[in-house]
Amino acid sequence: MKTSSSRKPRSLNKLTLPGVVWLASDIHLGPQTPATQRAFHAFLDKACAQADALILCGDIFDAWVGDDVALACPAPWLSDSLEKFRQTAAAIPLWIGRGNRDFLIGRQLADHLNAHLLPETVRLSTDKLEVLLSHGDEYCTADAGYQRFRRIVRNPWVQKAFLALSLRRRSQIAEWARSRSQNANRYKASRIMDVTPEAIEQAYTVSGIRTIVHGHTHRPALHRLQVNGQACTRIVLPDWDFDHEGAPRGGWLSIGPDGLNLHSAADLA
Ligand code: MN
Repeated sequence: MKTSSSRKPRSLNKLTLPGVVWLASDIHLGPQTPATQRAFHAFLDKACAQADALILCGDIFDAWVGDDVALACPAPWLSDSLEKFRQTAAAIPLWIGRGNRDFLIGRQLADHLNAHLLPETVRLSTDKLEVLLSHGDEYCTADAGYQRFRRIVRNPWVQKAFLALSLRRRSQIAEWARSRSQNANRYKASRIMDVTPEAIEQAYTVSGIRTIVHGHTHRPALHRLQVNGQACTRIVLPDWDFDHEGAPRGGWLSIGPDGLNLHSAADLA
């Protein structure tokens, strides 16, 4: 039986995608970031033209209080993005994953978009190589408070109970959780907010895969490391932000015949 409990060993869902696969993460779409949304929509157009499949690895939305509410009465910005996702999914296979912000994304949204719901951890096989793929928050094991929160909110029964509440109650709880996490993060050492070497090493060892791709930490990088005497690679997908100081941020990973390539989204605006 499939379980979302982090204490059980992760079952590796296998996903085989031939050709050119593009991956992006942490776009954090929302009403306050129109420039990010424009750039991301331009990226989706580009993906339709140049990729054979697109995988979004979580935190696609900055907040998500349930498919039912979002789809019944989407705000204009969301309506635009949903339409864009539908167009994308009509052109190429689209996979949508859940992050720690939008963990309530479910099958209803995937069906509405004609997209596929990405399991929590995936063994992705491309023509070129195998990749261990996830949002990445499960590797941040130094943050005990967050891991506790994660276990609770990823519990299917908790999710069911939450989705049974009114939109008003859901929004209040979501807002409370968000402000609580922002306050807590302000005082946490930056190393606590990153992945731990132990969690990463364990993921390589357990999976036997030598390339890990994830987002979540907003620390885009290509790390090369040795684990158990083997050359391994860890790619951290960038977060997207075209609206704030220091912008633009964003980009994607392309896996194709010529291997792994990181692209900056700076020219998409
Ligand atoms: Mn995240």
